Amino acid sequence: MNHYKYLFFDVDNTLLDFNAAEELALQRLFDDQHINLTTEIERYYKEMNKGLWRDFENGKIDRDELVNTRFAKLFKAFGRDVDGVTMEQNYRRFLNEGHQLVSGARQLLLRLKERFDLYIVTNGVAETQRKRLQDSGLTPFFKQIFVSEDSGYHKPDPRFFHYVFKHIPCFRADHGLIVGDSLISDIQGGSHAGLKTCWFNAKHQNNELDVKPNYEIHKLDELYAILQPNE
Ligand SMILES: [Mg+2]
Repeated sequence: MNHYKYLFFDVDNTLLDFNAAEELALQRLFDDQHINLTTEIERYYKEMNKGLWRDFENGKIDRDELVNTRFAKLFKAFGRDVDGVTMEQNYRRFLNEGHQLVSGARQLLLRLKERFDLYIVTNGVAETQRKRLQDSGLTPFFKQIFVSEDSGYHKPDPRFFHYVFKHIPCFRADHGLIVGDSLISDIQGGSHAGLKTCWFNAKHQNNELDVKPNYEIHKLDELYAILQPNE
């Protein structure tokens, strides 16, 4: 039965187009170094970065190791020694400025805000995520923004979700639904914390994990049908 009251939204590649922001930030990083960013370099970086984030989600490396080594590794692979920490700082600055919306995000939140309590649950650096949400104009739609850095835990860790729930008055997990693009962070994490889950699968990817979302959508506006009040 549909009796949702609390809707939790992931940010990156759910409401904000992180891929677009990332591409622009990478471009600016290379422009800064006066190196031509070829499709080969871009592809190499995306694969490497994806692998590092997977290791992070699985608890194999910590965030500092991830962010402070990735650009040193990247530039080294193409023959240049750079300081990983400085490059990360530059990249972070460029990324902070990226806040392109996923198609339909604003309209969706505008309509849902009337009927539900909306919350952000996002992994990442608190300052970055808050700034991007602010710049995108999405902040006013949310009752509260929960960033993993503030809690000390990140999705899918149940302690992150418990931190969130503790900050919502009279919260009941069985009245909560999480919407996100990551099967591990959002769907598995949300499900273990007692939420119903909606996988935003914009790219029609195959679900090769043993994680079963309650719902699956390919466009944000498909969420309306799921949230129709029961007769
Ligand atoms: Mg995401």
